[in-house]
Amino acid sequence: MDHFLYRDGALYAEDVPISEIAAAVGTPFYVYSTATLLRHYKLFDDALEGTDHLVCYAMKAASNQAILKTLAQAGAGMDVVSGGEYLRAKAAGVPGDKIVFSGVGKTVDEIRTALTGGIRQFNVESEPEMEVINAVALELGVVAPITVRVNPDVDAKTHAKIATGKSENKFGIPIARASEVYARAASLPGLEVIGIDVHIGSQLTELEPFELAYTKVAELTERLRAESHDIRRLDLGGGLGIPYARSNDAPPLPVEYGALIKKTLGHLGCEIEIEPGRLIAGNAGLMVSKVIYVKSGEGRDFLILDGAMNDLIRPAMYEAHHDIVTVQEPVPGVEQQPYDIVGPVCETGDTFAKQRNMPPLAPGDLVAFRSAGAYGAVMASEYNTRPLIPEVLVHGDQFAVIRERPSFDEIINRDTIPVWL
Ligand SMILES: *Cc1c(COP(=O)(O)O)cnc(C)c1O
Repeated sequence: MDHFLYRDGALYAEDVPISEIAAAVGTPFYVYSTATLLRHYKLFDDALEGTDHLVCYAMKAASNQAILKTLAQAGAGMDVVSGGEYLRAKAAGVPGDKIVFSGVGKTVDEIRTALTGGIRQFNVESEPEMEVINAVALELGVVAPITVRVNPDVDAKTHAKIATGKSENKFGIPIARASEVYARAASLPGLEVIGIDVHIGSQLTELEPFELAYTKVAELTERLRAESHDIRRLDLGGGLGIPYARSNDAPPLPVEYGALIKKTLGHLGCEIEIEPGRLIAGNAGLMVSKVIYVKSGEGRDFLILDGAMNDLIRPAMYEAHHDIVTVQEPVPGVEQQPYDIVGPVCETGDTFAKQRNMPPLAPGDLVAFRSAGAYGAVMASEYNTRPLIPEVLVHGDQFAVIRERPSFDEIINRDTIPVWL
């Protein structure tokens, strides 16, 4: 459920008409709903009620500081995957002891930044990285809390580009080698081993892969405890999918996911961390765009929008489906017609949807891409010298621009010309 609904024939974000935001900021833009963000956070928080837990929002899904602050004020921690994200979370007011640092390629500088600013834990992804964290911690005279990310070799049954828990993926250490790696970690004075981490992929639409992975984590917890490691925190990653198409079967609900966690791991008495990103932000955001032209091709009509693949890359990158709705509610019974919906970028890949049935549209009409809140704005680029589009946050009947559209001067003046030219 989200808070983007039609009222009196017009699409609203909470209590604000989308057309009013479009008039104020121009198109295209992203708009997020505070109520939806908080609702999704709370679904996870409630799903783990009765267990000691922390929901660490995977901020790579949507990292605007206004979004981070909204979630942090509700009690969320953050999962970061770079030094930049760490600094952004801190800038948004998230305390270091609620920030978890994941990612396969943490550099010495990034590790130093996190150890200096305070960190809840590093999720260590390899033995060389473990040695480096130890060395940096010793140099700074601190002890780094760590978990080791294990790769449970399960098939997440999701898109190949976002599956992370198979043995051929670059993530984590093979679970079969865990004893050896934990023994080494325990011998390093700059590290304190506190738990285990696992994250098997994104946009999972079934519980079974989670169950397989978490069962392996439960077994590993007992094995490592028997080897005298004090395993007291389990970071279970993110990955629960969202319904991108209204017509599809809905993925499992957070409450079912929470029940699975309690069933597979509840008996261990560990603190539970989860790192949802997509499910918190995905359906809390729209990308709104305007029709520039309707072009009749051979046997098909193209809807050419002012938004493009550089603004929302998921269709081009993952063959992803986004429901696209008109901002003016279609008249009941209106005959739909198929369009190829495309952006202006000079690539055939700049196609959002093929032969998508839509009500008849004309230049100037507004459309909204649903489920665009996660992996939308954060993956945008300025390809074709198209400015990064603004982000807007709605809260009840208020809205605020939370990232401005840069001017062409700002973009162009970022280049510097060498002396010889
Ligand atoms: C991307 C990522 C997540 C979030 O995944 P979602 O599918 O957005 O929930 C969580 N943990 C790690 C380590 C990640 O890389």
